Amino acid sequence: MTSRSIYTLAVHAGERLPASPFRPVTTPITPAVSYLAPEMADLDAVFGGERAGFVYQRYGNPTVSAFEQAMAALEGGEAAVAYASGMAAVHGAMLGALLGEGAMRRTLVSAADVYGATYAVQERLLGALGVSTTFVDGTDLAAVEVALRERRPAALVCEILSNPLLKVADVPRLAELAHAVGAALIVDSTFATPYLFRPLEAGADYVVHSATKYLAGHGDVMAGVVVCSAARAADLRERQKLLGDNLGPQEAWLALRGIKTLALRMREHCANAQRVAEWLAAEPRVAQVHYPGLAAHAQHDLAEALFGGRGFGGMMSFVLDGAGQAEVFRFMEALELVLPATTLGDIHSLTLYPAHSSHRAVAPEVRAALGIGEGLVRLSVGIEDPADVIADLSGAMDRALGR
Ligand code: PLP
Repeated sequence: MTSRSIYTLAVHAGERLPASPFRPVTTPITPAVSYLAPEMADLDAVFGGERAGFVYQRYGNPTVSAFEQAMAALEGGEAAVAYASGMAAVHGAMLGALLGEGAMRRTLVSAADVYGATYAVQERLLGALGVSTTFVDGTDLAAVEVALRERRPAALVCEILSNPLLKVADVPRLAELAHAVGAALIVDSTFATPYLFRPLEAGADYVVHSATKYLAGHGDVMAGVVVCSAARAADLRERQKLLGDNLGPQEAWLALRGIKTLALRMREHCANAQRVAEWLAAEPRVAQVHYPGLAAHAQHDLAEALFGGRGFGGMMSFVLDGAGQAEVFRFMEALELVLPATTLGDIHSLTLYPAHSSHRAVAPEVRAALGIGEGLVRLSVGIEDPADVIADLSGAMDRALGR
Protein backbone atom coordinates (compact mmCIF):
# COMPACT_ATOMS: atom_id res chain seq x y z
CA MET A 1 0.00 0.00 0.00
CA THR A 2 1.32 3.40 -0.87
CA SER A 3 2.33 5.42 2.12
CA ARG A 4 -0.12 8.19 2.78
CA SER A 5 0.21 11.51 4.43
CA ILE A 6 -0.66 12.20 8.09
CA TYR A 7 -3.59 14.30 6.81
CA THR A 8 -5.05 11.30 4.97
CA LEU A 9 -4.21 8.71 7.63
CA ALA A 10 -5.82 10.79 10.38
CA VAL A 11 -9.07 10.78 8.43
CA HIS A 12 -9.18 7.11 7.36
CA ALA A 13 -6.99 5.01 9.69
CA GLY A 14 -8.85 2.61 11.97
CA GLU A 15 -12.14 3.02 10.15
CA ARG A 16 -14.08 0.37 8.20
CA LEU A 17 -12.20 -2.57 9.75
CA PRO A 18 -13.38 -6.07 8.70
CA ALA A 19 -16.38 -7.28 10.74
CA SER A 20 -15.36 -9.48 13.66
CA PRO A 21 -17.11 -12.85 14.06
CA PHE A 22 -17.55 -11.89 17.73
CA ARG A 23 -20.78 -9.94 18.07
CA PRO A 24 -21.20 -7.48 20.92
CA VAL A 25 -23.79 -8.64 23.46
CA THR A 26 -25.57 -5.29 23.55
CA THR A 27 -26.47 -3.06 20.62
CA PRO A 28 -23.63 -0.68 19.73
CA ILE A 29 -24.24 2.98 18.94
CA THR A 30 -23.68 3.48 15.21
CA PRO A 31 -23.29 7.19 14.59
CA ALA A 32 -22.35 6.87 10.88
CA VAL A 33 -24.45 9.08 8.65
CA SER A 34 -23.70 7.08 5.49
CA TYR A 35 -22.84 3.49 4.52
CA LEU A 36 -20.70 1.68 1.99
CA ALA A 37 -22.47 -1.09 0.08
CA PRO A 38 -20.63 -4.09 -1.47
CA GLU A 39 -21.50 -2.75 -4.92
CA MET A 40 -23.22 0.37 -6.21
CA ALA A 41 -26.14 -1.82 -7.34
CA ASP A 42 -26.74 -2.76 -3.68
CA LEU A 43 -26.86 0.90 -2.71
CA ASP A 44 -29.28 1.49 -5.56
CA ALA A 45 -31.52 -1.41 -4.39
CA VAL A 46 -31.66 -0.04 -0.83
CA PHE A 47 -32.46 3.48 -2.05
CA GLY A 48 -35.17 1.97 -4.24
CA GLY A 49 -36.67 0.07 -1.31
CA GLU A 50 -36.05 -3.29 -3.05
CA ARG A 51 -33.83 -4.62 -0.28
CA ALA A 52 -33.23 -3.92 3.40
CA GLY A 53 -30.06 -2.09 4.32
CA PHE A 54 -28.63 1.20 5.42
CA VAL A 55 -27.60 4.05 3.17
CA TYR A 56 -28.11 7.36 4.97
CA GLN A 57 -29.19 8.11 8.53
CA ARG A 58 -32.44 9.84 7.63
CA TYR A 59 -33.42 6.61 5.82
CA GLY A 60 -32.54 4.34 8.74
CA ASN A 61 -29.85 3.49 11.28
CA PRO A 62 -28.93 0.18 12.97
CA THR A 63 -29.21 1.48 16.56
CA VAL A 64 -32.54 3.18 15.86
CA SER A 65 -33.71 0.04 14.10
CA ALA A 66 -32.87 -2.05 17.20
CA PHE A 67 -35.01 0.28 19.34
CA GLU A 68 -37.83 0.07 16.78
CA GLN A 69 -37.68 -3.73 16.75
CA ALA A 70 -37.77 -3.81 20.55
CA MET A 71 -40.84 -1.55 20.62
CA ALA A 72 -42.65 -3.57 17.94
CA ALA A 73 -42.03 -6.70 20.04
CA LEU A 74 -43.15 -5.06 23.30
CA GLU A 75 -46.36 -3.70 21.74
CA GLY A 76 -47.09 -6.84 19.70
CA GLY A 77 -47.01 -4.83 16.45
CA GLU A 78 -45.55 -5.67 13.07
CA ALA A 79 -43.28 -2.63 12.90
CA ALA A 80 -42.30 0.61 14.60
CA VAL A 81 -40.97 3.99 13.51
CA ALA A 82 -38.91 6.03 15.98
CA TYR A 83 -39.08 9.83 16.11
CA ALA A 84 -37.06 12.66 17.63
CA SER A 85 -39.75 13.30 20.26
CA GLY A 86 -43.16 12.15 21.41
CA MET A 87 -44.75 15.11 19.64
CA ALA A 88 -43.06 14.16 16.36
CA ALA A 89 -44.52 10.65 16.84
CA VAL A 90 -48.01 12.02 17.62
CA HIS A 91 -47.82 14.23 14.53
CA GLY A 92 -46.40 11.36 12.44
CA ALA A 93 -49.32 9.08 13.31
CA MET A 94 -51.86 11.83 12.60
CA LEU A 95 -50.30 12.54 9.19
CA GLY A 96 -50.24 8.79 8.55
CA ALA A 97 -53.99 8.59 9.10
CA LEU A 98 -54.73 11.81 7.19
CA LEU A 99 -52.51 11.09 4.18
CA GLY A 100 -52.00 7.33 4.27
CA GLU A 101 -54.65 6.35 1.78
CA GLY A 102 -53.63 8.68 -1.00
CA ALA A 103 -55.96 11.67 -1.08
CA MET A 104 -55.69 13.90 2.00
CA ARG A 105 -58.59 13.55 4.43
CA ARG A 106 -59.47 16.63 6.41
CA THR A 107 -61.15 15.64 9.64
CA LEU A 108 -60.15 14.18 12.98
CA VAL A 109 -62.12 13.39 16.12
CA SER A 110 -60.12 13.61 19.33
CA ALA A 111 -60.64 13.12 23.04
CA ALA A 112 -60.59 16.63 24.53
CA ASP A 113 -58.55 15.59 27.55
CA VAL A 114 -55.18 15.03 25.90
CA TYR A 115 -51.67 16.44 26.38
CA GLY A 116 -51.80 20.19 25.63
CA ALA A 117 -49.44 20.05 22.66
CA THR A 118 -51.42 17.15 21.15
CA TYR A 119 -54.51 19.33 21.47
CA ALA A 120 -52.68 22.30 19.93
CA VAL A 121 -51.25 20.29 17.01
CA GLN A 122 -54.79 19.37 16.04
CA GLU A 123 -56.40 22.70 16.74
CA ARG A 124 -53.67 25.08 15.56
CA LEU A 125 -51.15 23.38 13.27
CA LEU A 126 -53.44 20.94 11.45
CA GLY A 127 -56.24 23.50 11.75
CA ALA A 128 -54.17 26.06 9.85
CA LEU A 129 -53.54 23.40 7.18
CA GLY A 130 -57.26 22.88 6.71
CA VAL A 131 -57.86 19.87 8.96
CA SER A 132 -60.79 20.29 11.30
CA THR A 133 -60.85 18.41 14.62
CA THR A 134 -63.92 17.78 16.73
CA PHE A 135 -63.02 17.40 20.41
CA VAL A 136 -65.28 15.20 22.54
CA ASP A 137 -65.23 13.65 25.98
CA GLY A 138 -63.46 10.39 25.14
CA THR A 139 -65.20 8.60 28.02
CA ASP A 140 -68.66 9.46 26.64
CA LEU A 141 -68.98 6.70 24.05
CA ALA A 142 -72.35 7.96 22.81
CA ALA A 143 -70.84 11.41 22.12
CA VAL A 144 -67.83 9.80 20.42
CA GLU A 145 -70.15 7.73 18.21
CA VAL A 146 -72.18 10.80 17.19
CA ALA A 147 -69.01 12.77 16.36
CA LEU A 148 -67.62 9.85 14.33
CA ARG A 149 -70.86 9.41 12.38
CA GLU A 150 -71.15 13.14 11.66
CA ARG A 151 -67.51 13.80 10.79
CA ARG A 152 -66.38 10.45 9.30
CA PRO A 153 -62.79 11.39 10.25
CA ALA A 154 -59.50 9.92 9.13
CA ALA A 155 -58.78 9.02 12.76
CA LEU A 156 -60.01 9.01 16.31
CA VAL A 157 -57.27 10.18 18.71
CA CYS A 158 -57.10 9.39 22.42
CA GLU A 159 -54.73 8.73 25.31
CA ILE A 160 -55.13 5.44 27.14
CA LEU A 161 -54.68 7.33 30.42
CA SER A 162 -55.29 10.98 29.73
CA ASN A 163 -52.93 13.82 30.63
CA PRO A 164 -53.59 15.27 33.20
CA LEU A 165 -56.99 13.98 34.41
CA LEU A 166 -56.26 10.25 34.15
CA LYS A 167 -59.42 9.38 32.26
CA VAL A 168 -59.31 5.83 30.93
CA ALA A 169 -59.96 5.18 27.22
CA ASP A 170 -62.10 2.13 26.49
CA VAL A 171 -59.82 1.16 23.60
CA PRO A 172 -61.70 -1.99 22.49
CA ARG A 173 -64.99 -0.06 22.20
CA LEU A 174 -63.35 3.03 20.66
CA ALA A 175 -61.70 0.78 18.04
CA GLU A 176 -65.09 -0.70 17.10
CA LEU A 177 -66.68 2.74 16.85
CA ALA A 178 -63.80 4.16 14.78
CA HIS A 179 -63.64 1.20 12.42
CA ALA A 180 -67.40 1.31 11.86
CA VAL A 181 -66.93 4.65 10.04
CA GLY A 182 -63.62 3.75 8.38
CA ALA A 183 -61.49 5.79 10.81
CA ALA A 184 -58.16 4.64 12.24
CA LEU A 185 -57.69 4.63 16.02
CA ILE A 186 -54.58 6.41 17.32
CA VAL A 187 -53.83 5.64 20.97
CA ASP A 188 -51.17 7.56 22.88
CA SER A 189 -50.07 4.95 25.41
CA THR A 190 -47.33 7.00 27.07
CA PHE A 191 -48.82 6.76 30.59
CA ALA A 192 -49.59 3.02 30.42
CA THR A 193 -46.65 1.56 28.47
CA PRO A 194 -46.85 -2.02 27.15
CA TYR A 195 -46.33 -3.20 30.73
CA LEU A 196 -49.96 -2.32 31.49
CA PHE A 197 -51.68 -2.53 28.13
CA ARG A 198 -51.11 -3.33 24.43
CA PRO A 199 -53.57 -1.18 22.42
CA LEU A 200 -52.92 -2.91 19.07
CA GLU A 201 -54.29 -6.15 20.50
CA ALA A 202 -57.43 -4.25 21.50
CA GLY A 203 -57.96 -2.95 17.95
CA ALA A 204 -55.91 0.29 17.81
CA ASP A 205 -54.21 1.05 14.49
CA TYR A 206 -51.38 3.28 15.71
CA VAL A 207 -49.84 3.20 19.21
CA VAL A 208 -47.87 6.33 20.03
CA HIS A 209 -45.39 6.89 22.84
CA SER A 210 -43.40 9.73 24.16
CA ALA A 211 -40.42 7.45 24.86
CA THR A 212 -39.00 10.42 26.77
CA LYS A 213 -41.14 9.21 29.67
CA TYR A 214 -41.45 5.66 31.08
CA LEU A 215 -39.82 3.81 28.16
CA ALA A 216 -36.48 5.59 28.57
CA GLY A 217 -37.32 6.31 32.19
CA HIS A 218 -34.35 8.29 33.47
CA GLY A 219 -35.03 11.85 32.34
CA ASP A 220 -32.03 12.00 30.03
CA VAL A 221 -33.37 11.44 26.52
CA MET A 222 -36.12 12.80 24.29
CA ALA A 223 -37.65 10.25 21.93
CA GLY A 224 -40.92 9.08 20.40
CA VAL A 225 -42.18 6.00 18.62
CA VAL A 226 -45.20 4.80 16.65
CA VAL A 227 -46.00 1.07 16.51
CA CYS A 228 -48.41 -0.15 13.82
CA SER A 229 -48.80 -2.55 10.89
CA ALA A 230 -45.91 -3.05 8.46
CA ALA A 231 -47.84 -1.25 5.71
CA ARG A 232 -48.61 1.79 7.88
CA ALA A 233 -44.99 1.87 9.12
CA ALA A 234 -43.69 1.82 5.54
CA ASP A 235 -45.90 4.84 4.83
CA LEU A 236 -44.63 6.68 7.94
CA ARG A 237 -41.05 5.84 7.00
CA GLU A 238 -41.45 7.33 3.51
CA ARG A 239 -42.70 10.57 5.09
CA GLN A 240 -39.87 10.55 7.65
CA LYS A 241 -37.34 10.37 4.83
CA LEU A 242 -38.75 13.70 3.63
CA LEU A 243 -39.37 15.43 6.96
CA GLY A 244 -36.25 14.25 8.80
CA ASP A 245 -37.90 13.98 12.21
CA ASN A 246 -35.76 10.92 12.97
CA LEU A 247 -34.50 9.74 16.32
CA GLY A 248 -30.71 9.94 16.60
CA PRO A 249 -28.65 6.81 17.36
CA GLN A 250 -27.38 8.08 20.74
CA GLU A 251 -30.95 8.72 21.86
CA ALA A 252 -32.13 5.38 20.45
CA TRP A 253 -29.43 3.63 22.45
CA LEU A 254 -30.49 5.34 25.67
CA ALA A 255 -34.16 4.52 25.01
CA LEU A 256 -33.27 0.88 24.24
CA ARG A 257 -31.20 0.77 27.41
CA GLY A 258 -34.13 2.22 29.36
CA ILE A 259 -36.66 -0.37 28.27
CA LYS A 260 -34.51 -3.20 29.67
CA THR A 261 -35.85 -2.26 33.10
CA LEU A 262 -39.29 -1.03 32.01
CA ALA A 263 -41.22 -3.86 33.66
CA LEU A 264 -39.29 -3.57 36.93
CA ARG A 265 -39.74 0.18 37.07
CA MET A 266 -43.43 0.05 36.12
CA ARG A 267 -44.09 -2.52 38.86
CA GLU A 268 -42.62 -0.10 41.40
CA HIS A 269 -44.28 3.00 39.86
CA CYS A 270 -47.69 1.28 40.09
CA ALA A 271 -47.26 0.03 43.66
CA ASN A 272 -45.87 3.36 44.90
CA ALA A 273 -48.50 5.46 43.13
CA GLN A 274 -51.29 3.36 44.64
CA ARG A 275 -49.96 4.11 48.13
CA VAL A 276 -49.50 7.81 47.43
CA ALA A 277 -52.98 8.11 45.86
CA GLU A 278 -54.60 6.41 48.84
CA TRP A 279 -52.78 8.81 51.18
CA LEU A 280 -53.85 11.84 49.12
CA ALA A 281 -57.47 10.60 49.02
CA ALA A 282 -57.51 10.54 52.82
CA GLU A 283 -55.78 13.93 53.20
CA PRO A 284 -58.17 16.77 54.24
CA ARG A 285 -56.16 19.45 52.37
CA VAL A 286 -56.80 17.59 49.10
CA ALA A 287 -60.22 18.13 47.52
CA GLN A 288 -59.99 15.55 44.72
CA VAL A 289 -57.63 12.83 43.48
CA HIS A 290 -57.62 11.53 39.90
CA TYR A 291 -56.06 8.05 39.95
CA PRO A 292 -57.64 5.02 38.25
CA GLY A 293 -56.40 2.72 41.03
CA LEU A 294 -58.82 4.32 43.51
CA ALA A 295 -62.22 2.60 43.76
CA ALA A 296 -63.81 6.08 43.63
CA HIS A 297 -62.37 6.74 40.12
CA ALA A 298 -65.23 6.73 37.59
CA GLN A 299 -63.45 4.16 35.41
CA HIS A 300 -61.72 2.07 38.03
CA ASP A 301 -63.38 -1.16 36.81
CA LEU A 302 -62.52 -0.45 33.18
CA ALA A 303 -58.88 0.22 34.11
CA GLU A 304 -58.76 -3.00 36.12
CA ALA A 305 -60.18 -4.97 33.18
CA LEU A 306 -57.84 -3.39 30.61
CA PHE A 307 -54.69 -3.58 32.76
CA GLY A 308 -55.36 -7.11 34.00
CA GLY A 309 -54.45 -6.50 37.63
CA ARG A 310 -50.89 -5.32 36.86
CA GLY A 311 -51.62 -1.93 38.44
CA PHE A 312 -52.78 1.50 37.33
CA GLY A 313 -49.60 3.35 36.41
CA GLY A 314 -47.52 5.98 38.17
CA MET A 315 -49.43 9.11 37.14
CA MET A 316 -52.10 11.00 39.06
CA SER A 317 -53.39 14.50 39.57
CA PHE A 318 -55.01 16.11 42.58
CA VAL A 319 -56.69 19.35 43.59
CA LEU A 320 -55.37 21.25 46.59
CA ASP A 321 -58.47 22.32 48.46
CA GLY A 322 -59.32 25.99 47.87
CA ALA A 323 -55.93 26.65 46.25
CA GLY A 324 -55.20 29.04 43.39
CA GLN A 325 -51.96 29.43 41.46
CA ALA A 326 -50.17 31.21 44.36
CA GLU A 327 -50.86 28.40 46.86
CA VAL A 328 -49.93 25.69 44.33
CA PHE A 329 -46.66 27.49 43.54
CA ARG A 330 -45.88 27.78 47.30
CA PHE A 331 -46.61 24.05 47.70
CA MET A 332 -44.40 23.07 44.78
CA GLU A 333 -41.56 25.29 46.03
CA ALA A 334 -41.87 23.76 49.50
CA LEU A 335 -41.23 20.22 48.21
CA GLU A 336 -37.79 18.92 49.14
CA LEU A 337 -37.70 15.48 47.46
CA VAL A 338 -40.38 15.56 44.75
CA LEU A 339 -39.03 17.64 41.88
CA PRO A 340 -41.15 20.42 40.37
CA ALA A 341 -39.82 19.65 36.88
CA THR A 342 -41.58 19.54 33.54
CA THR A 343 -41.69 15.88 32.60
CA LEU A 344 -43.07 12.56 33.86
CA GLY A 345 -42.34 8.86 33.97
CA ASP A 346 -38.84 9.20 35.40
CA ILE A 347 -37.32 7.25 38.27
CA HIS A 348 -37.67 10.46 40.31
CA SER A 349 -41.03 11.71 41.58
CA LEU A 350 -42.07 14.87 39.76
CA THR A 351 -44.82 17.46 40.06
CA LEU A 352 -46.08 19.83 37.44
CA TYR A 353 -48.66 22.61 37.27
CA PRO A 354 -50.71 21.79 34.10
CA ALA A 355 -52.28 25.25 33.82
CA HIS A 356 -48.90 26.89 33.14
CA SER A 357 -46.95 24.08 31.45
CA SER A 358 -48.36 20.93 29.83
CA HIS A 359 -51.67 22.69 29.06
CA ARG A 360 -50.46 26.27 28.59
CA ALA A 361 -51.12 25.85 24.86
CA VAL A 362 -54.81 25.25 25.63
CA ALA A 363 -57.00 28.37 25.99
CA PRO A 364 -57.92 29.15 29.66
CA GLU A 365 -61.68 28.76 29.02
CA VAL A 366 -61.08 25.34 27.35
CA ARG A 367 -58.87 24.33 30.30
CA ALA A 368 -61.58 25.33 32.75
CA ALA A 369 -64.22 23.39 30.78
CA LEU A 370 -61.96 20.32 30.79
CA GLY A 371 -61.57 20.48 34.57
CA ILE A 372 -57.96 21.65 34.57
CA GLY A 373 -58.47 24.23 37.30
CA GLU A 374 -56.14 26.57 39.19
CA GLY A 375 -55.65 24.13 42.08
CA LEU A 376 -54.77 21.06 39.98
CA VAL A 377 -51.32 19.48 40.50
CA ARG A 378 -49.98 16.60 38.39
CA LEU A 379 -47.80 14.04 40.15
CA SER A 380 -45.58 11.40 38.57
CA VAL A 381 -44.63 8.95 41.32
CA GLY A 382 -41.08 7.64 41.00
CA ILE A 383 -39.37 4.53 42.31
CA GLU A 384 -38.22 6.06 45.62
CA ASP A 385 -39.64 4.67 48.87
CA PRO A 386 -43.27 5.88 48.78
CA ALA A 387 -43.12 6.68 52.51
CA ASP A 388 -40.52 9.35 51.72
CA VAL A 389 -42.66 10.75 48.90
CA ILE A 390 -45.70 10.94 51.19
CA ALA A 391 -43.65 12.61 53.95
CA ASP A 392 -42.44 15.21 51.45
CA LEU A 393 -45.94 15.94 50.11
CA SER A 394 -47.27 16.22 53.65
CA GLY A 395 -44.40 18.47 54.80
CA ALA A 396 -44.80 20.76 51.78
CA MET A 397 -48.53 21.09 52.51
CA ASP A 398 -47.71 21.97 56.11
CA ARG A 399 -45.22 24.64 55.06
CA ALA A 400 -47.25 26.07 52.15
CA LEU A 401 -50.86 25.73 53.30
CA GLY A 402 -50.66 25.29 57.04
CA ARG A 403 -52.54 22.57 58.92
N1 PLP B 1 -47.95 12.37 24.82
C1 PLP B 1 -48.12 12.54 26.14
C2 PLP B 1 -49.23 11.81 26.83
C3 PLP B 1 -47.28 13.39 26.87
O1 PLP B 1 -47.49 13.56 28.19
C4 PLP B 1 -46.24 14.06 26.18
C5 PLP B 1 -45.33 14.98 26.89
O2 PLP B 1 -45.48 15.23 28.06
C6 PLP B 1 -46.10 13.86 24.81
C7 PLP B 1 -46.96 13.00 24.15
C8 PLP B 1 -45.02 14.58 24.03
O3 PLP B 1 -43.80 13.96 24.27
P1 PLP B 1 -42.38 14.70 24.04
O4 PLP B 1 -42.25 15.71 25.12
O5 PLP B 1 -41.41 13.57 24.10
O6 PLP B 1 -42.44 15.32 22.69
